[in-house]
Amino acid sequence: MARHSFFSSVNAIVDQAARFTDHDPALIEQIKACNTILQVRFPLERDDGSIEIIAGWRAQHSHHRLPLKGGIRYALAVNEDEVMALAALMSYKCAVVDVPFGGAKGGICIDPSTYSERELERITRRYTFELARKRFIGPGIDVPAPDYGTGAREMAWIVDTYLQLNTGELDAIACVTGKPLAQGGIRGRTEATGRGLFFGIREICDDADLMRSLGLTRGLAGKRIVVQGLGNVGYHAAKFLIEGGAILVGVAEHDGGLHAADGMDLEALMAHRRERGGILGFPGATALPSNSAALELDCDILVPAALEGQITSENAGRIQARIIAEGANGPTTPAADAILNERGVLVVPDVYLNAGGVTVSYFEWLKNLSHVRFGRIERRYEESAFTRLVDVMERHNGVAFSAEDRRRLTHGAEEEDLVNSGLEETMSAAWHTLRATQRSHAGADPRTAAYISAIDKIVVAYEDRGIFP
Ligand code: NAD
Repeated sequence: MARHSFFSSVNAIVDQAARFTDHDPALIEQIKACNTILQVRFPLERDDGSIEIIAGWRAQHSHHRLPLKGGIRYALAVNEDEVMALAALMSYKCAVVDVPFGGAKGGICIDPSTYSERELERITRRYTFELARKRFIGPGIDVPAPDYGTGAREMAWIVDTYLQLNTGELDAIACVTGKPLAQGGIRGRTEATGRGLFFGIREICDDADLMRSLGLTRGLAGKRIVVQGLGNVGYHAAKFLIEGGAILVGVAEHDGGLHAADGMDLEALMAHRRERGGILGFPGATALPSNSAALELDCDILVPAALEGQITSENAGRIQARIIAEGANGPTTPAADAILNERGVLVVPDVYLNAGGVTVSYFEWLKNLSHVRFGRIERRYEESAFTRLVDVMERHNGVAFSAEDRRRLTHGAEEEDLVNSGLEETMSAAWHTLRATQRSHAGADPRTAAYISAIDKIVVAYEDRGIFP
């Protein structure tokens, strides 16, 4: 039997969306194609002196906007098809949230937990070197970021390697995003994908008509959520949703699943996991027969935030959530999507909902190119202007603000305030564009609407550059 191709699944969605447009079919074929793919193989000397061959890829899906952008994933499931599919998702995602990048993705086929930190550093630096010598990385070429199995530590190794190879290049630190703050990172990047998911879901839950059509009440408060994968995306999504009033009733991790109808304390669960190396045995929660059983728990919002292909035609019929908030890339297969749409479940697509990471990566790239921290120029000016205003109000209106009110009213925007505000604006505006596209294309579900909007924007980008006059 032919192996399931993730890249073909993404292309099938593009074909479905393209049927709602009248773009030239040749143009759609160009948009779907993965333009370039680099495969690398290099030797790693392990700590015990033995040699192992490491395989990695970097797929550049679409050059309609430059640079290209997309994370680097370390996982055993990484292969060429997956990297191409994830690169394609990046093209559509950037278009959906108006981030002016083409889509790319990288991956190395390793289980990072089986390597020492020194070994991971050697792998990451060598991979960066391979990308650099093929001109697959650079501030104006292709800008990686963290993804599954990588984080700020790996990005720090990447930027350091790139700097060594490109001494004197003024914008060199913009070659990668998701860096630690001390190496040119930006405040708010680590939690950006989860925070963006929260902004998106909060906006959706605020739509009274939409909530009514799903049989739910308006607002996030009291919504029961289940999260699959408590990594970067899942943990932060859960944290912000809970802060917004949601209740965490179920969790799935690689070692098992938990259920607690009255809710779980997320921070206590994370502490338990750090101490015990897994989530099982967490007091007050019931262990489920398998981790995938958590997906089928009774809840309002299911947040798959682990890997692709988790909701399939096999389990889609048993999903009880009314909203699926796709934190991961490609967690729902096309067959499952059809079943869920048929059942009236709202599937909020990955190309929109997990775009917070790339949005804040864009801000980090802008910060690196401008060589100045957001807020540095205007913060003090704003604070004195607000202070003068508050002083005048007190003098003329006889009001006396409390110290806390005065602090809040006169606060000048710092980098993190500006990043979060830009992220909120992006997620909110993109949702309303997506809904408007859905309304103007009868029969389009939210995912199809997101792709229609992305295709239209990519076509414009191609036309702007005279590629398809
Ligand atoms: P991560 O490595 O930080 O976390 C993944 C978590 O999933 C880990 O805790 C892991 O133990 C858990 N997990 C693995 N297999 C599981 C299973 N079968 N059941 C339950 N849990 C399982 O990765 P991440 O960065 O949070 O990425 C997660 C997903 O989100 C990926 O699909 C990634 O492509 C996507 N994504 C990430 C970002 C980002 O900014 N990090 C942005 C957009 C999309």
